[in-house]
Amino acid sequence: MDAHRPSRDPLRRRADPVKTIGVLGGMSWESSLEWYRLANERVREQLGGNHSARIILDSLDFAEIEELQARGDWDAAGTLLADHARGLERAGADLIVLCTNTMHLVADRIEAAIGIPFVHIADTTAAAVLASGIRKAGLLGTAFTMEKPFYRERLEAQGIEVLVPSAEKRARVHAIIYDELVHGIIRPESRAYYREVIDELAAQSAEGIILGCTEIELLVSAADSPVPVFPTTSLHVDAALAAAG
Ligand code: GLU
Repeated sequence: MDAHRPSRDPLRRRADPVKTIGVLGGMSWESSLEWYRLANERVREQLGGNHSARIILDSLDFAEIEELQARGDWDAAGTLLADHARGLERAGADLIVLCTNTMHLVADRIEAAIGIPFVHIADTTAAAVLASGIRKAGLLGTAFTMEKPFYRERLEAQGIEVLVPSAEKRARVHAIIYDELVHGIIRPESRAYYREVIDELAAQSAEGIILGCTEIELLVSAADSPVPVFPTTSLHVDAALAAAG
């Protein structure tokens, strides 16, 4: 076959103009890569041919973000991400996504800075949890996500009871994210540890597990859990594509 000829109907077009998704990424780039890949794969599945997702990616330097997190300077982090979101809007994005659960701590700052929709990752997760009939979910993520109120309260406000691991386990779950997953390191022993934590949450009556950090689904999947898992990167991609119509 002629390599330059699309295998499906080359004239297939969408009825409505496709919106452009502005992606705040790089937090970490390992998970942004997954976000980008999933978005493009899904558009190809939906539309066929050579269709791909319309995306403007602004990939930040994660070291800068991590330093602000470590200092607890959420004000500076909010200013930084709001500036970048405005940049994406000026560049032509029709909606904004922030590809990290943790940095949704400053989601309000981003939303206040832009005049286009913001697809909140905790809302897309809550919608999936509720749609599956689950009302009590275990939450795995960074220490910020598991311990600060911004994420838990957003889920609770939507009727989901949230369980988190013990302090000791939270510390190791967090360390595996920052020392391994954001560096693209996938260790079988870390997967085994996450499985242990997931089993414990399920034994404590969690009916589902939220993989509430965008790198976690690089390590574990549904096969690692006795109860349904909610992979936030994947769910966020679906929500963003639905919003991009
Ligand atoms: N990507 C991670 C998350 O979803 C952690 C990295 C970060 O702190 O942004 O929370």
